[in-house]
Amino acid sequence: MQIKFLGTGGAFDVDYLNSAALLELKEKTFLIDCGYTVYPTLVKKNLINKVEYILLTHLHNDHCGSLASLLLHKSIIEKTDRPVLLYTSEQFRMQIYDFLEIQLKDPDKYVEFVPLEQFEAIRCIDTFGQHVENFQTYAYIFEDDYRVVYSGDLGKPDSLFEKLEKLPHMPTCIFHDVTFDAENTGHTYYKKLLPYLNGYDMFGYHCDPTKTPEDCPVRLVFYQKELMA
Ligand SMILES: [Zn+2]
Ligand SMILES: [Zn+2]
Repeated sequence: MQIKFLGTGGAFDVDYLNSAALLELKEKTFLIDCGYTVYPTLVKKNLINKVEYILLTHLHNDHCGSLASLLLHKSIIEKTDRPVLLYTSEQFRMQIYDFLEIQLKDPDKYVEFVPLEQFEAIRCIDTFGQHVENFQTYAYIFEDDYRVVYSGDLGKPDSLFEKLEKLPHMPTCIFHDVTFDAENTGHTYYKKLLPYLNGYDMFGYHCDPTKTPEDCPVRLVFYQKELMA
């Protein structure tokens, strides 16, 4: 399994591009999130042809804003098979469908919707209401010979870690959203991750790395060259 980030910024950190990643697992390539900077980044880096499967953590624009452009590119420029969008629940599928329908008219022409359950190596953790009140979000867990956890946007990390602690032991690498602003309740203030640093390989993302406080022990994806596409 290999993960390469296409950006590590928060919604307004345009210099660091929207947080998103390409993950290779069992010879398939998954795009995790497709915010408003992702499509141009995939084109510039010549990686767009790699995208076969798409997973979305939630429907904020910095996580889905260029999805329609990506799908149109696949169909009109690349002329390849429709990518597969893995959905976590019927309700979330309908939300994604509605979001795409206004832009594409007939989303099924451009993307194939497949339930995530069909992929044993990936599971979703429902984090509803833990980023923004009454708003659907998901974290994802990928398993091969080790485990990769992608938090998505998450203000309250405790229930995700509770669930992780119940899983069979396996080396685990966690990519977790962080904020350096204690007032920001939509994202995880870095000090809330301190109790969980032992036992996991943890990297922070969805932030402006230049704002990292000196006492922050969480390594940032941005500074790990091998994690960047
Ligand atoms: Zn975000
Ligand atoms: Zn968000």
